[in-house]
Amino acid sequence: MSRVYNFSAGPAVLPEEVLKEAAAEMMDYRGSGMSVMEISHRSALFQSIIDEAEADLRTLMNIPDNYKVLWVQGGGHLQFAMVPLNLMKNGRAEYIVTGQWAKKAWKEAQKYGSASAAADSSPQNFSCIPDCSGITFDKKDDYVYICMNNTIYGTAWHTLPETGDIPLVADISSCFLSEPLDVSRFGILWGGVQKNVGPAGVAIAIVREDLIRSDLDEKIPTMLRYDTYASSGSLYNTPPVYTIYMCGKVFKWLLKQGGLEAMKQKNEEKAALLYDYLDSSTLFHPTAAVKDRSLMNVTFVTGNPELDKKFVQEAEAAGLVNLKGHRTVGGMRASIYNAMPKEGVEELIRFMRRFEEENA
Ligand SMILES: *Cc1c(COP(=O)(O)O)cnc(C)c1O
Repeated sequence: MSRVYNFSAGPAVLPEEVLKEAAAEMMDYRGSGMSVMEISHRSALFQSIIDEAEADLRTLMNIPDNYKVLWVQGGGHLQFAMVPLNLMKNGRAEYIVTGQWAKKAWKEAQKYGSASAAADSSPQNFSCIPDCSGITFDKKDDYVYICMNNTIYGTAWHTLPETGDIPLVADISSCFLSEPLDVSRFGILWGGVQKNVGPAGVAIAIVREDLIRSDLDEKIPTMLRYDTYASSGSLYNTPPVYTIYMCGKVFKWLLKQGGLEAMKQKNEEKAALLYDYLDSSTLFHPTAAVKDRSLMNVTFVTGNPELDKKFVQEAEAAGLVNLKGHRTVGGMRASIYNAMPKEGVEELIRFMRRFEEENA
C-alpha cells in the first residue's frame, strides 16, 4: 500500500487513523456481523452512531442548546436553496459575494425573493474579502449571507460583518472544524462535509431554533424544510448512514487531537510554513490578499500557465497530488485541511524549492 500527499480541495484527505479504524470494522461492526453500510437506520446500533456524532460535534464546537444539528443530503448546492426557502419571511436577503460559491448561493436565492449583493469582490477577482464596516443592513432583511472560506480563491473571513439582530448565515464547508467559532454569532452555519470532515454525501446545518419555521408555504417539498429534519432527528427518511458514521469517527479523532484550539494551532503552523515560503519565492506568487489568507486553501501561480502545468505534473509524479487550481481560475491550490500532516506541507515546500531552482 502506498499513500500520497493529497492536496485536493474536496473530496479530500481523511485522517489515516480513521480510515484504518473504518477498514477494521468493515465486515463486522461491533459484533453485529454486518458492515455499517448494511445496518438499518432505524436500528439501535445506528441511533447510537448518530447520537454520539452529534454529541461530539456539540462538544467540539461548543454548540449552544438552542441550536439544532441537522444532517441533510444534497450537499452545498441544496443549502443554497434551503436557506432562502426557509428563511425568507419578508422575501429579502443580503449576500456578500466573495467567490463562486457565494455567487451561486446568491443567484439561487434570487429565485425565491429579492437577494441583493451588499458587497462584491469580483472586481478584485475575488482575491480579497470586501470591507463591510460601512454597510448598515435593513431591519427587513431576513438574513445576511457569507461564505466563510472561499475554497477556490484561498480567502477567508477573519472578522465577521456586524449584522445586529439580522441572522448571519455562513457556508463553512471548507473551514468546518478548522478552528473555534462562536456559534452564537450565527443564525445558521452549514457545511458540506466532504472538504474538511468526512466523505461526500451530507451537509451539516447548525440552525438556531427560532429560525426553524413550521409556517412555510405548503408547496415547499418536505425534504427542503429544516423543520422536517429537526422534528425527526434527521431520520425522516434514510440518511447517508456510512457518511454519518465516518464523520463521527473524525469528530472523535479531532477530540483526541485536543479539539479545535489545538487544530487551529496546527493549521496556523502548517499555513505559515507554506505562506512564508511563497512570500520569499521568486518563482511562485501567492494570489490572496495577505490579510484575508485562508488557513485551508493556499492559492498561488508562477505567472506562466505552461510552467504551472509542468509543476502540477512533476509534483504528481513525486506523490504530491491534486495541486491544480480550480478549473475556472487555473494556477495552483494546496488544500491543507485538518487531516494533512505537517510532513505533507514540508514535503511540498521541499519539492517547490527544488522546482524553483531547476526552473529559475
Ligand atoms: C465545495 C463547496 C461548495 C459546493 O458543495 P457541493 O456539496 O459540491 O454542492 C459550496 N461551498 C463551499 C465553500 C465549497 O467549498
